[in-house]
Amino acid sequence: MQPAFERLQKLPGFKACGKNQYEAQCPAHEDRKASLSISIGANENILLYCHAKCDLDRVLRCIGLQEKDLFAPKGNNHKPESAPPSYWRRVWGETIPLDNEASEPGRRYLENRGLKLTSYPKDIRFHSTLAYFVDQQTKPG
Ligand SMILES: [Zn+2]
Repeated sequence: MQPAFERLQKLPGFKACGKNQYEAQCPAHEDRKASLSISIGANENILLYCHAKCDLDRVLRCIGLQEKDLFAPKGNNHKPESAPPSYWRRVWGETIPLDNEASEPGRRYLENRGLKLTSYPKDIRFHSTLAYFVDQQTKPG
């Protein structure tokens, strides 16, 4: 964990509110709720955002940090491992064209995103393991 994050954990009201998501009282304004959003990115860089729109520099000054402290140390910037092309070829091979009857959830998904297609491009296909739920009750997690 980065030293900057240790500093952020000491802010009043600091608590986790999701995966790699935290909130705390913003030190740059009189904050009665936790207005400061803290996120850890995939590259372990830290993202700060005050919902009361405090200037980042001012927030950092109040915590005693500099902007560079938010970035993961160089050399530690590991890229997420990418699956080999053979994996993607296999996944692509498992997909079915959108005009296939079994692609109904895929078509419904696109329609609900406002994409009314009269024909289906060959580059957009449906994979049966992709779940799409229209109402909140059946949504997982
Ligand atoms: Zn603020």
